[in-house]
Amino acid sequence: MSTAPGRVSEVFYSLQGEGPSVGRPAVFLRLQGCDVGCAWCDTRYTWDPGLGEPLDLPAIERRIAAEFGACPLLVVTGGEPLQHPQLGDLLDWAATRFARVEIETSAVAPPPRTGSRFAYNASPKLPGVSPRWAATWEHVSAYLALPETTFKVVVRDLPDFTALIGLARRHGIPAERVAVLPEGLTDEAVRAHARELAEPCKRAGFRLSPRLHIWLWGARRGV
Ligand code: SF4
Repeated sequence: MSTAPGRVSEVFYSLQGEGPSVGRPAVFLRLQGCDVGCAWCDTRYTWDPGLGEPLDLPAIERRIAAEFGACPLLVVTGGEPLQHPQLGDLLDWAATRFARVEIETSAVAPPPRTGSRFAYNASPKLPGVSPRWAATWEHVSAYLALPETTFKVVVRDLPDFTALIGLARRHGIPAERVAVLPEGLTDEAVRAHARELAEPCKRAGFRLSPRLHIWLWGARRGV
């Protein structure tokens, strides 16, 4: 992990696209840097920790106030926020300004902050998706201990779904805390995978999450 000051990819106002707050208006703060290397990654522009702008919290606060106004929900995303050198400071700042802070993460490291305002959307990876997939399951127990954590796992097909069933059982994740995200960068692909996964989700008791941002905007950035 880099020890250089962290950087920001983009800040924008949109709707939370998936997970427990799907559809809610939110400010998105996308951090730069990730070495998890997922084959399905739709934000490869965030991988290089040297790109983007330096993280300047006072400037971000001014911009949020001027452009977006008051918003109760902040989504901290990436990249991999857990690899950002200033994440702790960022979360301390966010907890004083937002009623709810959702952190989108692969769960490749333990949760750096806990508290009633923080909700982790942990997205551990299935075998074959990332060379570091096993590391994303190592801290599941720490996330399970936080009642606001949702485990949202990207799944493409039935073999993936079978792998998810096995991993969820092995790590003791209750079915009601699992959200299945159908893989795809187009509405057509997400719908096709969702149709294949609907019946298995019903049998397993998993939530099948929509991917609202793909439906509305496809793979566009900053929306
Ligand atoms: S953890 Fe997220 S940002 Fe990093 S490669 Fe995987 S999907 Fe992309």
